Amino acid sequence: MKRSFLYFLSILLVLSHSAWALPEPRKGILDLRQTNLKNQEIALGGEWKWYWHQLLIPQHPAGESEPIRFPKLFNNSTWKGKPVPAQGYATYELTVLLPHQRPPLALFIPDCYTAYQISVNGQVVMSSGRPGTSKETIIPYWSPQAQVLPDFPGDSLLILLEVANFQHSKGGSYREMELGDAQLIVSSFEKDKALDFVLAGCLFMGGLFFLGLFGFGKHDKAILYFALFSIFYSYRIVGSDLHVLHTLFPNLSWSFSIHMEYLTLYLSIAAFVEYTRRLYPEDVYHPVMKAMRGICLAMALGVLILSPVIFTQLINQFLLLTFLYVGYAIYIYLKAARNQRPGATYALMSTGILLVVFVIINLHYFGIITPKKFLLFVGYIAFFFLQSLILSFRFAFALKQAKSQAEEGLKAKSEFLSTMSHEIRTPLNSVIGMTYLLLGDQPRSDQKQHLDVMLFSANNLLNIINDILDFNKIEAGKVTFESIPFDATLIARNCIASYQTYAQEKQNTLTTSIDPKLKNLLLGDPTRTTQVLNNLTHNALKFTQKGSVTLGIEMMSETDTDVQLKFSVTDTGIGIDPAKQKLIFERFTQADSSMTRSFGGTGLGLAICKHILELQSVELQLISTPGEGSQFFYIQWLKKGDPISVVETQVVETPVQPLLGLHILLVDDQPMNILAARGILKRWGAQVETASDGQQALDKMEEKLPSLVLMDLQMPIMDGYEATRHIRQRGYTIPVIALTANLIPEIEDKVKISGMNDIVIKPFKPETLLQVIQSHVKVSS
Ligand code: ADP
Repeated sequence: MKRSFLYFLSILLVLSHSAWALPEPRKGILDLRQTNLKNQEIALGGEWKWYWHQLLIPQHPAGESEPIRFPKLFNNSTWKGKPVPAQGYATYELTVLLPHQRPPLALFIPDCYTAYQISVNGQVVMSSGRPGTSKETIIPYWSPQAQVLPDFPGDSLLILLEVANFQHSKGGSYREMELGDAQLIVSSFEKDKALDFVLAGCLFMGGLFFLGLFGFGKHDKAILYFALFSIFYSYRIVGSDLHVLHTLFPNLSWSFSIHMEYLTLYLSIAAFVEYTRRLYPEDVYHPVMKAMRGICLAMALGVLILSPVIFTQLINQFLLLTFLYVGYAIYIYLKAARNQRPGATYALMSTGILLVVFVIINLHYFGIITPKKFLLFVGYIAFFFLQSLILSFRFAFALKQAKSQAEEGLKAKSEFLSTMSHEIRTPLNSVIGMTYLLLGDQPRSDQKQHLDVMLFSANNLLNIINDILDFNKIEAGKVTFESIPFDATLIARNCIASYQTYAQEKQNTLTTSIDPKLKNLLLGDPTRTTQVLNNLTHNALKFTQKGSVTLGIEMMSETDTDVQLKFSVTDTGIGIDPAKQKLIFERFTQADSSMTRSFGGTGLGLAICKHILELQSVELQLISTPGEGSQFFYIQWLKKGDPISVVETQVVETPVQPLLGLHILLVDDQPMNILAARGILKRWGAQVETASDGQQALDKMEEKLPSLVLMDLQMPIMDGYEATRHIRQRGYTIPVIALTANLIPEIEDKVKISGMNDIVIKPFKPETLLQVIQSHVKVSS
């Protein structure tokens, strides 16, 4: 990579120099009689004649002349042994002896300070502005040109070049003219102009793109300065050197051109300095950068307030400083690369290229080499491309960082939630368990009242935690739905059965209205359906006093395989203000917070129901009139299962001691949990043995094998997973049920792998635990 980069630089340097083994003018004569001009362009640099303070077109022949090394600035020339000033006028003369056989010829001339006119064999062929003998008579203009020459008779050309300057700190001709095959000269001039347009267009569009990125993005100043740099520099490409801007706007004055040329030079370098400073702030020495920026801005200010004769004087010193700065920039990027900053390698490569381009441009500027335009073009494009890569890299890097921060935030949030939930669930388990036990001990009626309040509050707290976790899970997109046969009528009946006491307390009648046409089991997720209906029924009861609540299932339509059901919960409660009817489905939103305060609630229930249904492409809807009541309903297509058997609808009577004679090993390190669970299990008639860690459990099993193990997961000495693995390794197939305050999704896989049969989440409702136990063992009683 590095080596190819070096090759690229050296090729750029070598190729940028044109061939130099061709004849040169001597004593004002260029002898091309032996030169084949076909496909050839000859640089006219060499010994010309010159006439100081004489404009010889069209009155040639002239008076006295002197030899001069052409091209040469006035301020580097002498006339009769004395140096001449930059302001003045002169004529340069060259006679070219041509071969008899030659293609049509053309002449190329770069810009001169600051106006020129060329005649060939007495005929004016090109001019830029108008040379004059005073400030008043000169019209300065910068315009390099390539012109096909007329087919002159004879085999020689007398070229006269008049140059005058009264506006600039430099005067005269400073770059090589070329003579050669007209097709070659004209087409390469046109190509060079096209390259300038393309390059400027690329830079300008790139600049605008980065400006947009800065505006819409995250306001990274480095991007802004690079955008400005690109835009300023794009002007320089068309507004200096070949001045192709004049092709589009021929009437642009010289004054405008020179001001813009210098202004954009200083501003582009200031922008580049700032860009580097913002790009790698830790690797730059800020005072140097600020000084450089200050110099650039001061020079720019000078351009605005001073005349060109003055502000053009410092350009050479400034270019030298720029060289030093580019060197320093390379050092900065080296440092940045060493410090592994994003995109620093690209920065290094691009600045290396920029340095070469700069060297070439300046060698060209000082007339030392004539670079091939295309190579400069490639150099520029490579520079801008690599710089854009840095910014893209930086942008992508920032996005990646933001993404990983967000992910970390999410991880932290869910870790926090699961830890908190574990920590809250564990004591809550004891509270709920002990309350159940106390309630079962035939308390006095006042004690029963207190215990009911305690159980209600504990259950409420549990519901809130469950809601928050549930919502979190839904938001994280971690909810999956089962598709198993279930009896919707049973769910409805169970739902109202569980709220009957609450309904009575609020003097509400709570009934179901189930369509007798519904005769089949349905395929779906019974847990989520129960959750939604429970939530809606609970809300209806909460916001209704001395009224009625009906849970309805209505068959809307039916096919051979599917049914369309309308699930509804209708109440005659307080109703909801139409303005709030959309709002209440948002999380943490309540229709009337003052009112709800007296009813309790977090404002999550409806948001959860809505999301659960939405994930199944079902919409939760509401019809409500304040003061009259509300109906929440949803319509869902479900696949039909087998017909509902009569047995399934029968509510099974729970015997008083459902686990009579069952030998259970209860493993938990928390004495409070042991106390609560043991009490409940014993009340159901089970024989309970306890252990406080996995190892103890294994030892106890050796003494007597239980019918079932209830296993906590996190315990000292040996945790539940390892204990279960040992149980399975010893060949015991008895059911092992995890009893944990962790959340199911976090442990589900581990629990299965270790060989456990089921999970019950703490705090558990005693009925839930009973159900799970009964699903794994047959009780003989
Ligand atoms: P909350 O936990 O506050 O009940 P929900 O999301 O379940 O949260 O309900 C949001 C709000 O919607 C409630 O606070 C209440 O203002 C209103 N709301 C819900 N159901 C009913 C209803 N059946 N009757 C009147 N208002 C209701």
